[in-house]
Amino acid sequence: MKKETPKEESTPVCPKCGSALSDVVTTPTGKKLQRCSKGSWNAETKKNEGCDYVKWLPVEPETLDEKCPKCGAPLVLTVTRFGKKMKKCSTGGWDAAAKKATGCDYVEWINGTTEDLAEDCPECGEKLVLYTTSSGKKMKKCSTSGWDKEKRMATGCTYVQWL
Ligand SMILES: [Zn+2]
Ligand SMILES: [Zn+2]
Ligand SMILES: [Zn+2]
Repeated sequence: MKKETPKEESTPVCPKCGSALSDVVTTPTGKKLQRCSKGSWNAETKKNEGCDYVKWLPVEPETLDEKCPKCGAPLVLTVTRFGKKMKKCSTGGWDAAAKKATGCDYVEWINGTTEDLAEDCPECGEKLVLYTTSSGKKMKKCSTSGWDKEKRMATGCTYVQWL
């Protein structure tokens, strides 16, 4: 009887050409991928050279120190395939067999981040914040400014300075 050699799961190989995969790299948007060691990205021609196999790795959701407003469970921070960030309820999931969402469906999209600045607004004297959009653009804006979701209009001071 022939002995079956167990497949090594610790060394992933490229399903296209059978070569070993390169180390995991993290993209600027926080996604993780592994390329085939026989392939490489040429930044000048913007083309893949050699084997073009890319394995996208699932991004581990980060548990936040925030509670879901719907059910009180902790929220997790996830990044979509397109690099958009969202907070979602940790009890929410996807039943692949039934093709429907399970658990809590609370989701909050994150459009950008704000950082406190030690500068005063030239218009109203309140503190300024540094706002970074989801696409990486930065601007200074007044900390009193906000967005009224119900009325769909800006509130507070409208001072904005793009950097
Ligand atoms: Zn390959
Ligand atoms: Zn929830
Ligand atoms: Zn202001």
